[in-house]
Amino acid sequence: MWVGLATWGLARGSGWRRLTRRAFGVGFATWDLACGSGWAAPDWIGLRATYNRPVPRRLVILGSTGSIGVQALDVVGRSGGELQVVGLSAGHDWRTLTRQAAEHGVGRIAVADVDAAAQAAEAWTGGEILSGPDGLVSLVTESACDLVLNAIVGSAGLLPAVATLGEGIDLALANKESLVVGGELVTQLAEATGATIIPVDSEHSALHQLIMREGAGTIERLILTASGGPFRGRSVEQLADVTVEGALAHPTWSMGGKITIDCATLMNKGLELIEAHHLFGTPYEQIDVVVHPQSIIHGLIALCDGATLAHLGHPDMRVPISYALHLPERVDVPVARLDLAALGRLTFEPPDEETFACLRLARAAGQAGGTAPCTLNAANEVAVHAFLGGRLPFLGIAAVIEDTLSRLGVEQVQSFDSLTDADAQARAVAASLVEERAAA
Ligand code: NAD
Ligand code: MG
Repeated sequence: MWVGLATWGLARGSGWRRLTRRAFGVGFATWDLACGSGWAAPDWIGLRATYNRPVPRRLVILGSTGSIGVQALDVVGRSGGELQVVGLSAGHDWRTLTRQAAEHGVGRIAVADVDAAAQAAEAWTGGEILSGPDGLVSLVTESACDLVLNAIVGSAGLLPAVATLGEGIDLALANKESLVVGGELVTQLAEATGATIIPVDSEHSALHQLIMREGAGTIERLILTASGGPFRGRSVEQLADVTVEGALAHPTWSMGGKITIDCATLMNKGLELIEAHHLFGTPYEQIDVVVHPQSIIHGLIALCDGATLAHLGHPDMRVPISYALHLPERVDVPVARLDLAALGRLTFEPPDEETFACLRLARAAGQAGGTAPCTLNAANEVAVHAFLGGRLPFLGIAAVIEDTLSRLGVEQVQSFDSLTDADAQARAVAASLVEERAAA
């Protein structure tokens, strides 16, 4: 634990400041060097990695009780022993967590909520229980693991992501919020320690698979696809009184509650835009979003010779999870195979950023840089929580985020602490804006 915390402490202190300067100063030097308008993929996505891949591969899954976590355990269960889980964590749900630990023979678990961890400690005799956010860090740093899957929801995923990369451990990253909030820190830490970040988000997994096959300077644009969510095509007036149930009814993907609401507002695509910018070192001007309601094409890259390459498949997160956990191998995943003739049509349209303001706000926050993406993310987490709790209407989500951003402005990120402060400030402002709206 202490080795891990010491490394993280370095990153958080002077190391982070140094790394931050590097990120702001020369982070996109590879892009400048690339020929034409293409850019070169950064080292931290593993282009030149040899992938330390012992068998069995020792895996820690953070957020194992959630949608991604459960599907990851399904992938592990089919791996024939190639993937061995050595640590599991959850936020609150210790009952599911201890059941998973028993099923997968895991003797070490962490529960972020200290009260839930105490209850787990009374009830579970199967091994060691770590408690609180520091417990999650210890789980990462003290389990002698080869790979960490971060499937935590929200900015709570940042600290364990930093701990993972600080230890030089490869990170399979579903938790997009950690790249949104601390993209420079996370990627520069990976660069400094040589750890690889393998995306689990389906669009970024698709782009990873496409980019890995291209030479430097050949890629002109990245294209992220968006389903458009359950309210695609509606006007602002038609969104005024949509319900939580309606927003949770995603047309193509089955996911956790927070990301499902993010899909309905298009904030998910906004977060993914920022995620792609950091992950692939790509300028925002070279990342497009296209609405594709069937969710069959997950990502595309446009190349300097006029060719565009696409990644296709039925929407099932076990595909990108399996890719990330088994890389550089591919293994069988029991998903329906694609039958294009049966599908018949794939359609595309531009996103409506006037009606779905969250995508516009996220792009602007990403381009503003500094604390803006952190503020955007924190305000979104507060607003989505309030919407799910029936305390904020659907359109109030974008309004609260926009007001929070304009009240707080943009500060430079000088250190890890400035992100923590910006996150706390944004949560306080957004919470008071929610209350003001509820009282009005
Ligand atoms: P979920 O809500 O289903 O699960 C979240 C997990 O995080 C749970 O295990 C929960 O116990 C844990 N958790 C919650 N708060 C925590 C905290 N404060 N500290 C530690 N652990 C905490 O979420 P999900 O849908 O599985 O999404 C997880 C992440 O993956 C999100 O960042 C999401 O954007 C991303 N993602 C999800 C999908 C999907 O299909 N579900 C697809 C792409 C990306
Ligand atoms: Mg996605």
